[in-house]
Amino acid sequence: MTSPIQKNLVEKNAGYASHFTKGDLALPPAKHYLILTCMDARIDPAAAFGIDLGDAHVIRNAGASARDGQRSIIISEQLLGTKEIILIKHTGCGMLTFSNEDAHGLVKKNLGPSAAVEIATLDFLPFSNLEDAVREDIAYLRKSATVPEDVVISGWIYEVETGKVRQVV
Ligand code: ZN
Repeated sequence: MTSPIQKNLVEKNAGYASHFTKGDLALPPAKHYLILTCMDARIDPAAAFGIDLGDAHVIRNAGASARDGQRSIIISEQLLGTKEIILIKHTGCGMLTFSNEDAHGLVKKNLGPSAAVEIATLDFLPFSNLEDAVREDIAYLRKSATVPEDVVISGWIYEVETGKVRQVV
């Protein structure tokens, strides 16, 4: 059965593919950088951050977590040659609204004891202060042995209310 979401995908993709002309781009990002941002539905990275197709890696997860993004960051840098990290968290982030205890409690309540055991050691990486969280993630990346010294790193906040970005660090 095709869900309405799948139907939308097929229809919109047909339109997109009908005038697609960039099938010959190289695999490594042409501008050698990566953007790590949140999965929040209100963020359109390509439009808001000026990324043309083929230019950059865009890594997304809940909260734009550097720890959660580490696997992709290493692949981006070591296998695909990126040399700059732009980390962008955002106002109104869901990660500001719960604690690890809340999330674990919710899993146990909604999904049962087996699920709770399965994720017993999982850190959901919530945070309580947006700017501090940006600084902490940047500090984490700067001191990580997995990020070479010459990689340029900066931390930003995107405002979902205005569409503007501002640099934190
Ligand atoms: Zn978010």
